[in-house]
Amino acid sequence: MLPVQFDYVAPESLEAAVKFLKDNAEALILAGSHSLIAEMKRGSISPSHLVDLGKIRSLRGINHQPGNILQINAMTTYAQVAASREVQENYPVLFEAINNIGDAQIRNWQTIGDVFAYRDLACDFTAVALALEATFNTLDTEGSHEIEAAPLIAKAFQNNWQLKEIVTAINLPTDASTKGSAYQSFKHPATGYTLCGIAVAVGEINNGIVGKCHVAVTGATPYAVRLTAVEAAIEGKAPTAENIAAASTLAKASVDSILGDRYASAEYRAHLMEVNIKRTLIRALERVGIVVV
Ligand SMILES: Cc1cc2nc3c(=O)[nH]c(=O)nc-3n(C[C@H](O)[C@H](O)[C@H](O)COP(=O)(O)OP(=O)(O)OC[C@H]3O[C@@H](n4cnc5c(N)ncnc54)[C@H](O)[C@@H]3O)c2cc1C
Repeated sequence: MLPVQFDYVAPESLEAAVKFLKDNAEALILAGSHSLIAEMKRGSISPSHLVDLGKIRSLRGINHQPGNILQINAMTTYAQVAASREVQENYPVLFEAINNIGDAQIRNWQTIGDVFAYRDLACDFTAVALALEATFNTLDTEGSHEIEAAPLIAKAFQNNWQLKEIVTAINLPTDASTKGSAYQSFKHPATGYTLCGIAVAVGEINNGIVGKCHVAVTGATPYAVRLTAVEAAIEGKAPTAENIAAASTLAKASVDSILGDRYASAEYRAHLMEVNIKRTLIRALERVGIVVV
């Protein structure tokens, strides 16, 4: 039972949705409904209206944009993204992260543009967005904006997200590192949520030296972040087991804090970070033809 009364609207255009949200201060966006309805049942939010984005056709699907960008529209479900041949072949990090989310029913309903989820410390997609340097297109009454993943995730976590701003699409740049990518998570056995997820994207290896290497964590820190000390320890080096092991020990030095709670201590999550970084880097490197010895 829902302890709040609300009205439901389903506009058929983005413009109508933006206008409705502007005119109704207490209205909230509805996407796949899984997070929002749970919060309403708990009584933590009580919107005047739910503005369902489900009838806006331009918010669905995957397309190519100039500049080697793969664009995923916000109301595309996780299952639809994972079913894309393009994603399966060229974005293994995204494919693996999505298949890690919940179960088949969750992936069939939930949509990739859900900002609510990005403030969740265990959101798998956020680490992928950081590793791939994704940007997010948003729309509000002042017009459209393009926001990089890091500030958007921080804003969502700090609860500074303007609930009137609609995420319309996610842009994934395509280069050698999108294929040389991997995701690995360790899930809590009872809740199924990620205790530590690592996303890696490695660019071309020239003369036996790693060029670009992005490493991001989710689940182990208050919100997803890039592990810059780990990245710096890999870039410009040979991709050897020794260098990878040394880089993985710098995970703690890359973050302000590591989470500890009743599910796992900070010490355990720090250990998971180190182990997952090594394993994920090795798998990503395999995808650019490097067998780590
Ligand atoms: C049982 C269960 C298991 C889960 N397991 C995992 C997991 O393993 N890994 C993981 O990462 N996540 C997991 N999740 C979280 C899940 O991915 C999010 O709850 C999900 O993304 C919510 O999506 P939704 O489409 O249902 O959003 P809704 O609940 O419909 O929307 C929530 C809120 O997000 C905002 N929003 C939604 N779409 C937009 C948009 N386009 N623009 C702006 N704001 C928007 C709105 O404020 C909206 O009110 C799980 C959730 C459940 C219920």
